[in-house]
Amino acid sequence: MIDLHSHSLFSDGTETPEALALAADAAGLRALALTDHDTLAGLARFTAMQATVRTLLVPGVELSCRFLNRPLHLLGLFLDFRDPRLVGRIQQQLALRLERNQAMVRRLQDRGIAITWEAVAAEAPTDLISRTHFARALVRAGAAGSPQDAFHRLVGDDCPCYVPFPELTPAEGVRWIREAGGLAVVAHPGRGVPRGFRWDQPMRVLKDLGVQGFEAYYPDYGPAEQRYFVDLARELDLVPTGGSDYHGGHKPGLALGVGSGGLRVPDSVLERLQALRTPEPPAPWGEGCIIKS
Ligand code: AMP
Ligand code: MN
Ligand code: MN
Ligand code: MN
Repeated sequence: MIDLHSHSLFSDGTETPEALALAADAAGLRALALTDHDTLAGLARFTAMQATVRTLLVPGVELSCRFLNRPLHLLGLFLDFRDPRLVGRIQQQLALRLERNQAMVRRLQDRGIAITWEAVAAEAPTDLISRTHFARALVRAGAAGSPQDAFHRLVGDDCPCYVPFPELTPAEGVRWIREAGGLAVVAHPGRGVPRGFRWDQPMRVLKDLGVQGFEAYYPDYGPAEQRYFVDLARELDLVPTGGSDYHGGHKPGLALGVGSGGLRVPDSVLERLQALRTPEPPAPWGEGCIIKS
């Protein structure tokens, strides 16, 4: 069993990187990727746990991109999180996110909602502040009945107080990941699109940009959807990855490895990803050197 998508409290999960590594080991996972949103801050602590656990700990990230006029999340797996260029790029994104967050606070205040920047920041254990933290601050302020209510009326993608931050193009996201030695994988393509949406053509476009796989296994998918994505990956020769998108207490009902119960990402996916990391060895024979039997 493997799980190539999870979050710690360095983005919008509730658990430490150490706790995730230990839980993965206890659950018998062969591999777990930590893929916090737009930050690398948890990865040193996560990978330091490799000395303690049997589970392969895969350093990753989930980059916020925009494609087809909607959010597209791009996972970077096996990346060098100390790569100075990547670290600089992520730092810039964080600054833009901060500006976006302050604009969202102003919008909420303009609508008469008693929320402050300090109250939002207080919900986040690190400097990565996301709408998950807004939702919790709004509940605490009495402006929403539940985080879901906050997303429904105030800070969800189609809500008046949502301000998008300048998300990356998929081409930028792919470049950021691959230049840091990572593999670029589209997260949950089946989520947030109209029912029956066909990814055949868009995924070809993304493949041409350098995407190497996409999540064909994801807790939200039904059996038909999973089959569609597994078949599509085969057709396009992309790796069908997957994971639980575990967020601890911020997304209840999910467990590492199994998601909401039925998730099962084949171990063979790990081998396929690892084969992509290793550059193809040059063929031992070239033209004019035909091995005769
Ligand atoms: P941000 O990156 O700050 O725009 O926040 C995006 C995060 O908010 C996502 O990664 C989800 O964890 C969360 N989120 C977005 N929409 C919803 C929703 N409708 N319900 C619950 N969580 C959501
Ligand atoms: Mn999240
Ligand atoms: Mn996502
Ligand atoms: Mn995620």
